Amino acid sequence: MNQLSDRINSLSTSATLAMAAKARELREEGKDIIGLSLGEPDFDTPDFIKESAKQAIDDNYNSYTPVDGYAELKDAIITKFKRDNQLDYNRQQIVVSTGAKQSLFNIASVMLNDADEVILPCPYWVSYSDIVKLNGGVPIEVKTSIDNDFKMTPAQLEAAITPKTKMIWYSSPCNPSGSVYSKKELRALADVLQKYPNIYVVSDEIYEHINFVGGHCSMAQFEDMFERTITVNGVSKAFAMTGWRIGYIGAPTTIARACNKIQGQVTSGANCIAQRAVISALEASPDRVQYMIDEFKERRQLILGLLREIDGFSCNEPEGAFYVFPDISAYFGKTLKGQTIDNASEFAMYLLENANVATVTGDAFGNPNCIRISYAASQEQIIEAVKRIKNALS
Ligand code: PMP
Ligand code: GLU
Repeated sequence: MNQLSDRINSLSTSATLAMAAKARELREEGKDIIGLSLGEPDFDTPDFIKESAKQAIDDNYNSYTPVDGYAELKDAIITKFKRDNQLDYNRQQIVVSTGAKQSLFNIASVMLNDADEVILPCPYWVSYSDIVKLNGGVPIEVKTSIDNDFKMTPAQLEAAITPKTKMIWYSSPCNPSGSVYSKKELRALADVLQKYPNIYVVSDEIYEHINFVGGHCSMAQFEDMFERTITVNGVSKAFAMTGWRIGYIGAPTTIARACNKIQGQVTSGANCIAQRAVISALEASPDRVQYMIDEFKERRQLILGLLREIDGFSCNEPEGAFYVFPDISAYFGKTLKGQTIDNASEFAMYLLENANVATVTGDAFGNPNCIRISYAASQEQIIEAVKRIKNALS
């Protein structure tokens, strides 16, 4: 029976969500699993945001919203883009969606024709490649290495460009490497693109505020890139609002209109109560969530210090987001507890089964030598998890 389409059969399951589900399952069986697989802040949504949601319910916000978002929310997004990124968007250029994941899906579906190529500097966020494929595009992976802090160089970008190149997608701060592209580095990539005026950039800035070095730069800040950059952002990470499912874009008007059109046929728009709450989140000064960023920074130091004590773990120093992405290829070919480890997936599975710690294989992010560890967990959990990892490997 061919119940399912070829398209869905060729789609991979989200490795981050699959590992989180597996960890949940094992916990239900009574195992004491420490989950460091999911990129999800372990904080509560701040009270001032929750209050706005409660108020919205009492104020009877219960109807369909405009497909691309409430005008007041778009205005809050416009103010945020101006305040934090010095970007000038108007209401026709903003589209609110059900999470940045849907924003990305919309972009792929309205911009890609079959066989269009999308350059993905590796490691990239797990869903980029499948979202591109699902929409007929061809992901072109550009390998980077820990020696260059997992960043794509201008020469690598230029070498990956072909007549079929439609877009480049990247995140900065990067999930999974934590790398942050400086203004100078982005300018150098933009300089390459000057020779190729038909190539667009998707700049995923969802970790913008979780940046330990400052100097966040948006590609659209460069005047010559504004008209061909789609800036993606959302509230999941900085505001601890993953389950509220609100993301948004600032984009050239034609692209924003097309995203609105597809959304009108697929979801009718994002949830009304969540949208009202996000107005408060974005109108507030980013200082109000600084306590979470400070805590992530402490945890980063903690986990880096602990991991560096384990033989065979080689880490870059992540400048943002809440992940470490150690290269663990030193273990490939080794036998641990009678089990030979041949790749990062087997390594992550070994840690799950022998250390009761859930991580994610680097394959899912386009780098088969690494695993991703999320440190969006308490310091006690981090200490215990690394202790278990160390024991399981010794
Ligand atoms: N982009 C990146 C780089 C991410 O890590 C995530 C994680 N959720 C998303 C987009 C999607 O975020 P959401 O759909 O929760 O807004
Ligand atoms: N973005 C998070 C992660 O990378 C959440 C999971 C997901 O949306 O895939 O783990």
